[in-house]
Amino acid sequence: MNLNQLTILQAHEGLEKKQFSSLELTNACLKQIKGQNKDINAFITVLEKKAQDYAIQIDKKIASSGMTHVLEGIPLAIKDNILVDEIPCTAGSTILKNYTAVEDATAAKKLKNAGAVLVGKTNLDEFAMGSSTENSGFGPVKNPHNIEYVPGGSSGGSTAAVAAHMCLGALGSDTGGSIRQPASFCGVVGLKPTYGRVSRYGLIAMASSLDSVGPIAKSVDDIAIVLSAIEGNDLLDATSESAMFSIEYPVREASLENITIGIPKEYFVGGINKQVRNIVEQVIKTLENKGAEIVEVSLPHTEYALAVYYIIMPCEVSANLARYDGIKYGLSSLKGPTLKSKSPLSEPGSDSQSLLDIYLNSRSKGFGQEAKRRIMLGTYALSAGYYEAYYLQAQKVRTLISQDFSTVFSNKTGKGVDCLLTPTSPTPAFKLGEKVDDPLTMYLSDIYTVPVNLAGLPAISLPVGYSNGLPVGVQLVGNYFEEHKILRIGKSIEQMLEENKR
Ligand code: GLN
Repeated sequence: MNLNQLTILQAHEGLEKKQFSSLELTNACLKQIKGQNKDINAFITVLEKKAQDYAIQIDKKIASSGMTHVLEGIPLAIKDNILVDEIPCTAGSTILKNYTAVEDATAAKKLKNAGAVLVGKTNLDEFAMGSSTENSGFGPVKNPHNIEYVPGGSSGGSTAAVAAHMCLGALGSDTGGSIRQPASFCGVVGLKPTYGRVSRYGLIAMASSLDSVGPIAKSVDDIAIVLSAIEGNDLLDATSESAMFSIEYPVREASLENITIGIPKEYFVGGINKQVRNIVEQVIKTLENKGAEIVEVSLPHTEYALAVYYIIMPCEVSANLARYDGIKYGLSSLKGPTLKSKSPLSEPGSDSQSLLDIYLNSRSKGFGQEAKRRIMLGTYALSAGYYEAYYLQAQKVRTLISQDFSTVFSNKTGKGVDCLLTPTSPTPAFKLGEKVDDPLTMYLSDIYTVPVNLAGLPAISLPVGYSNGLPVGVQLVGNYFEEHKILRIGKSIEQMLEENKR
């Protein structure tokens, strides 16, 4: 086995026993990136020299004073909408093409403090808006299982990098499914933490009330390792909180005899692919055979979730992306060739740019189609006269969606479930180009993940099978701050599948 194919836990054990050095491990990943990135396009920035230098430093430190953290010397990647000091950060957008971060995001800083080796920044849909990583200003990412297919999105660069063994683990961000859906398309594990569990400081904001930073890796144990490194209250993010339950690793399997798993009936109707359905039902059956109690539950407002998301998210996007004005950050029409005036306020026929010209020219040039679509939708929905009809109404329905979840998790009736189990996405990966001209069908691939963000709950996607050679994932949704529970149940599923394989 090549070193880059190890899990984080295995690599840690190898480093501890001095079977190999962090430099060897890092070089194995860099070699894989060199060989594969041309085809997969998972990385926007590769930090070859920096990673090697840091690995050498870590090796020396381990030799002199031993290991202090399980992530010490482990090569990881970070999605390119998470700031890392002195390293370019594009958010997948042309508008930030030449932007270099001036500080660390809290999650990135925590990984650095743990001694992880950063091998690069991964490709994504522009500002994390998309489900296929085709909306990137840096070219689409390809699915390592079949490069004619998308890796999912928007963290498609991170999930493809982990699936193709270019790094041992990665950070992604999830606003409506962007960790879980690409994890399921690429056959890796991805966790969206409870809103607030991981600081959003330094994550380039998409929709702030929905955004979260989370881990992507090859196993449940590795997810627990990365999550425990990045979580925690942060004074720089007022919405962050310390969790009551800590995360252990290796994760103990749940004893399934004491577990109740809810199956939301609304998630198994309509457009779900037959093979996906069969695979997920097989997992449910096996869990039941192992003693888990399976109960059908109802989340009656599910049908409104996508509509609510596609009001609230663009509203927040339109506010968050207002800062890219050609003055403060990145691409500016001021620095480029003289552009013809676009603003009605300028002199007709003038070649000089007014302030409004700079805004208009920079933004027209710098943003892609999807970003523009969402800025316009959001601006419209927030405008006077429509705010009450759209934004306010959507916020009310969001509350109803959250309450649906609270009801099924609530123990008051004695019937509360430990977690919910659903498919992660209604279909396996689709072909590149298949849905680019049809945003509405694209949006449907997040139908099972979006409600979880609206409620702010934690959820994990686990690979559970294949349909025509493409991975299929199952999603476990937990109650607030109960990541430890979905990790333990996830570990049981992982073990069950291992047994089946044997
Ligand atoms: N695919 C969803 C969207 O396009 C979710 C994106 C995300 O989670 N960042 O908005």
